[in-house]
Amino acid sequence: MTKRPKVARDVTELREQIAKWRHKEKSIALVPTMGALHAGHISLVKRAHKEADKTIVSIFVNPTQFAQGEDLARYPRDEEQDFERLAKQSVDLVWIPSVDTMYPKDFSTTIQPGSAARGLEGEIRPAHFAGVATVCAKLFNQTTPDCAIFGEKDYQQLVMLRQMVRDFDMPLKLVGAPIVRENDGLALSSRNVYLSKEHRRIAPELHNVITDVASSVAAGEDQTSTLASARIRLLVAGFDKVDYLDVRNAETLAPATTKDTVPQRVLAAARLATTRLIDNVAIPPR
Ligand code: AMP
Repeated sequence: MTKRPKVARDVTELREQIAKWRHKEKSIALVPTMGALHAGHISLVKRAHKEADKTIVSIFVNPTQFAQGEDLARYPRDEEQDFERLAKQSVDLVWIPSVDTMYPKDFSTTIQPGSAARGLEGEIRPAHFAGVATVCAKLFNQTTPDCAIFGEKDYQQLVMLRQMVRDFDMPLKLVGAPIVRENDGLALSSRNVYLSKEHRRIAPELHNVITDVASSVAAGEDQTSTLASARIRLLVAGFDKVDYLDVRNAETLAPATTKDTVPQRVLAAARLATTRLIDNVAIPPR
């Protein structure tokens, strides 16, 4: 049997452990998660092991990044299974704060995220990135990591957090890690468990479509008509709604044009009944 990982549930316990590591001049990597861990999260843990001496994984389903009517109540939670998966990766500490620890009754400060948070996810989920920025700032202050690892799966989140770290002179490095996918291309997500059998069959089409958009744009085809036909392809495949599908500057997320020479990214979100899938791919250099 693999050993249970060490767990901290309050800030004092967490700080005591970190102080011991700092005393021995150990570097620390943080992997923030909302639990229901899958191979995508595990890839971040593996990356963290390469980046620092000690790895902390945080598990916190952050209520402030969910809007009313979103899936906060039904979001998958399975602490025991998460511990088992983390034990196999020799994670040094699992940080599991309660909602009251993170947001005591008198909590009143929120970070307003920068320009990268506007549009795309930010338009569909207006308070989402303020919730993400605030919780990440807290997690960074609590764990004082040398680096934090985030998946490119949530690409806009990564760009927004890079802006926050830069703008607030936060003393850590952010590392973006590639998206882990199922064999058929569907990006792994804790929310994939919501998909019915029929929707699971349709879901990989999101990746197929954005990959084709990336190739067309790289080949110099007209961006507007490429995006319009890609939207139709998603709807014909069985998606109920396309929240967004666009080509953006990969560093700033500003709208990109065919004339741009900077790296670009195709980002999309689409719905299968009540399940929202998000995905993105890099556009190969022209
Ligand atoms: P979550 O638990 O969904 O909030 O995700 C925690 C971290 O895991 C975030 O940095 C995500 O971008 C990352 N992540 C989620 N899914 C994947 C995936 N399929 N591949 C790589 N990273 C992922």
